[in-house]
Amino acid sequence: MSSNLEFKGYALTDASKWSDLNLTDFKPKTFQPDDVEISITHCGVCGSDVHTLTQGWGESKLPLVVGHEIVGKVTRVGKNVVGIKQGDRVGVGAQIGSCMECRACKASYENYCPHGIPTYNGQYPDGIVSQGGYGTAIRAHQQFVFPIPDEIESRDAASMMCGGLTVFSPLKTHGAGPGKKVGVVGIGGLGHYAVLWAKAMGAEVYAFTHDQSKMEDIKKMGADHIINTEDKDWHKPLALTLDLIVSTRDVFAPDTPLGAYLSMLFVHGKFITVGIPDADQPLPAIHSFDVVPNGCMLGGSAIGSKKECMEMLELAKRKGIKPWIHELPMKEAKKALEDVKANRVRYRYVLTQDIQAE
Ligand SMILES: [Zn+2]
Ligand SMILES: [Zn+2]
Repeated sequence: MSSNLEFKGYALTDASKWSDLNLTDFKPKTFQPDDVEISITHCGVCGSDVHTLTQGWGESKLPLVVGHEIVGKVTRVGKNVVGIKQGDRVGVGAQIGSCMECRACKASYENYCPHGIPTYNGQYPDGIVSQGGYGTAIRAHQQFVFPIPDEIESRDAASMMCGGLTVFSPLKTHGAGPGKKVGVVGIGGLGHYAVLWAKAMGAEVYAFTHDQSKMEDIKKMGADHIINTEDKDWHKPLALTLDLIVSTRDVFAPDTPLGAYLSMLFVHGKFITVGIPDADQPLPAIHSFDVVPNGCMLGGSAIGSKKECMEMLELAKRKGIKPWIHELPMKEAKKALEDVKANRVRYRYVLTQDIQAE
């Protein structure tokens, strides 16, 4: 069975104008027996889109369609596909391929496969460049296609595919739950999800922000404590308190107070960063004195696996969790992207399909 989907999207064509996207045709990946083809209805706008379009993570392949918080309807499935059929509502996140054979892949850690292919700006073995969700359609291996429960609206599911999953994974992996105190650093798209999930998991949530204008929102999201990091000695009362800190910051300066965050961890507590700043921003220097006295650990986390994504959707369904989003037609991606870059979004943009079939 074939389909008549056209593959086109709002693409970056000139890297010097990072937010000017032009409707462009592209060649999709070659359809294979494990693939699912999806007609896109929604796509969230992630900070990664901005880092990629501005070339902050390195030179991107042009023309490029970004977007990796994709929801749509299945239009075609390959003969090996199990559990997904034509007409189903599904999502695709930030990863679209892996080797399926390495130790990580076999252990359901495909998000850590060294041969992973990102949903856009990646390259398939046959040379075709992967193109993202600010467009009409996408093809993906079934491992990277997530069925969406009927109870979750597409507009709500979209930003869960990357933003939601990226913070769900470390919360789940590192034991957020009843009796645990969890810190969330940076309350933007990812951080707002971290507050929502950590509360839903039963943890006591400490939100860290310097943005006065967000404090009322953060309370409504359910945080138990809000700490203004511009207050003097803000971290001191929390010394040796938190079991886990998830940091969504994607901007680091040499004076970012990483040591202050580590000092708030309880014995063997973990500080996990999910934010990835531009290539010229290393983590601030720390000293052994920052990690030895409380035996704490510093680590990272990369998106999430299909297994974790399905658990996240189940939690969202069971607890009726809705993200804080604004919808815009896809042709207004420029506004959404510029607002994300300027930290003006409360708390995620979701683009809706507006490309007319011809
Ligand atoms: Zn692998
Ligand atoms: Zn993302």
